[in-house]
Amino acid sequence: MTKSNTTERVHCPYCGTDDASTWAVENGYTAVQCRGCRLVYVNPRPVSSLIADGVETGQHNDVVGGKVVIGSRVARKVWSFRRVLRRMYRDVWNADRAISWLDIGAGFGEVVEAVQSIAPRGSRVQGIEPMRPKAQWAHAHRLDVQCGYLDAVKEKYQFASLINVFSHIPDFRPMLQQIKERLEPRGEFFFVTGNIADLNGSRDVPTELNLPDHLVFAGEHHLRGYLDEAGFECLQIERTRPDTIINLAKQLVHKTRGKNVSIVIPYTSGCRSLRIRARLKN
Ligand SMILES: [Zn+2]
Repeated sequence: MTKSNTTERVHCPYCGTDDASTWAVENGYTAVQCRGCRLVYVNPRPVSSLIADGVETGQHNDVVGGKVVIGSRVARKVWSFRRVLRRMYRDVWNADRAISWLDIGAGFGEVVEAVQSIAPRGSRVQGIEPMRPKAQWAHAHRLDVQCGYLDAVKEKYQFASLINVFSHIPDFRPMLQQIKERLEPRGEFFFVTGNIADLNGSRDVPTELNLPDHLVFAGEHHLRGYLDEAGFECLQIERTRPDTIINLAKQLVHKTRGKNVSIVIPYTSGCRSLRIRARLKN
């Protein structure tokens, strides 16, 4: 296949306009920034069948050398999610009533494991993950993670989470609608992603962009806009910085391995990871 029949030109997924300037180039793909709303998105982007191939197998054959993005389970994530969720949902745990929680894009099941360990007895904590090797790992380790997409989920939940998944989704509006349909009235949504579109440029990003595994990068106003449109109210937002000294050490290791990362001096970037606790208004 040649590049021209594996990619398609798209308009800005947030505001629908087609006026953007080049923002970054990585792995043979270009991310552009919308001049109107400032969303950053890959354009041209892989056709939907190629996006699905990458999401389901964890391998991007459209990238020279076949970029593999499966990664591996990080035990530290369970500890870190547990700490964050304990703090941000203290009222829920204190109420001591069984809950239902769905983690979307559950990966190796780290969030499912974290919620399970702190949720009251009798709670239903499940995950859905389209990448087969990840879901299989979770399943083999007795975590309740189903392999597939959100349309395979038939039940409703009091809580849904989407953690570091946003950038993989080519068009977030229909996805958020699907999430909403799986929530009970006044259901809650825990949404975690970066504010990369708020930065002055890609040199301020303290991590790899991972194009075209990552297709869209938002700013805080995009995330608030999506939630508001879909009928969610933000209850709480935490902003944490990824440009730590530990991150610098990782960047340097990536650089020596020939990866395309910019070296960002710790504690200087405007980059933040946003953790948003939102609730359906009705
Ligand atoms: Zn736009």
